[in-house]
Amino acid sequence: MKFPLSLTAGMAGYIFKNKMRPRPEWQKDVAPPKNEANPFRILHSVPVDRANRQPHPMIRKRFPLVMMLEPLHACNLTCTGCGRIREYESTITERVPLEECLTAVDECGAPMVSICGGEPMMYPQIGALVAGILRRNKNIYLCTNGMFIRKRLHEFTPDKRFFFNVHLDGLEKTHDICVEREGVFREAIDGIKAAKAAGFMVCTNTTIYKETDMKEIEALFEYLEQFHVDGHQLAPAYGYSAVNDREIFMTRDDIHEKFQDIERLAERFYIKQTPMYLGFLKGDRELPCTAWGTPTYNVKGWKGPCYLITDGHYKTFEDLMTQTPWENYGPGNDPRCEHCMMHCGFEPSAALGISASLADSFKMLTWALR
Ligand code: SF4
Ligand code: SF4
Repeated sequence: MKFPLSLTAGMAGYIFKNKMRPRPEWQKDVAPPKNEANPFRILHSVPVDRANRQPHPMIRKRFPLVMMLEPLHACNLTCTGCGRIREYESTITERVPLEECLTAVDECGAPMVSICGGEPMMYPQIGALVAGILRRNKNIYLCTNGMFIRKRLHEFTPDKRFFFNVHLDGLEKTHDICVEREGVFREAIDGIKAAKAAGFMVCTNTTIYKETDMKEIEALFEYLEQFHVDGHQLAPAYGYSAVNDREIFMTRDDIHEKFQDIERLAERFYIKQTPMYLGFLKGDRELPCTAWGTPTYNVKGWKGPCYLITDGHYKTFEDLMTQTPWENYGPGNDPRCEHCMMHCGFEPSAALGISASLADSFKMLTWALR
């Protein structure tokens, strides 16, 4: 089964409604005037012609599309490129209580919730959390390394709005090197098989590093066909502050090169990202960052400005939306954003139809119908 059309239609309706009538309480700007919150902000040496400067297309129409919920940061693995287990080392034993998770889901109201971490399958009430979010009629991606699927599958009920999203960075040898432990690939595959046999929706999530051989990713997707997985996500690795001392991350040019052949791959396999975002990765188009579209909640509160970089944690969702100086982020505004092409900043821009032509709208429709 593929991404249900009703889900796509529901998302399109939500976007249309919010673009037409953005909630006024989220459009206020109450960031400190001097913006001490972002010491990295680029102070343009050439005076900016404010009158002729293009305003950010969506900065006065801010609303969330996908909530990133991190109920804990603890994990059974120590993957090479993982920023979370490093950035949140001091609170690694803490968890967001179940009721607080559900309150945050209500407060934000995004139609899609990505439960991530850490390893969310280590969260004691993970079954109850998924059930609670489904009761709110949300769509869920449960991002997991797959090692606890078999053990905890009985805590879930299959639902077309609920996906296990299993992280696989390559075939067996490569994946086990990336996660720094032998046997993880086999266990994840066994988890995928068990989940599919029990009637669950399963997709995979692959991070593309500088060293990744895209032919191997194609071979991985070919291998996964036998298990009838329900799609794949691809993400370019990005060297944000918690892990930027490593040399596995890519520049924009590296990313464009890696994704040159992405359209052929998307013809062959069901890649869940929008064609606009894939075109952006390939270098065919520019998109602005709309990080407010994918807000992150974790043990410290609402993380701003985005899933990747942290300049503050806010107590309420409204605080995140109104106190973050959004205009100071994105490529050209903050050096930490220079090479970022991550879905958390740019997939909302693609879904919102920023810079979309009529041909793009047609492409989106074809993609949704597929
Ligand atoms: S499985 Fe996920 S959370 Fe755990 S170390 Fe790897 S990337 Fe980080
Ligand atoms: S460009 Fe990337 S790192 Fe910068 S704010 Fe947007 S999502 Fe975050």
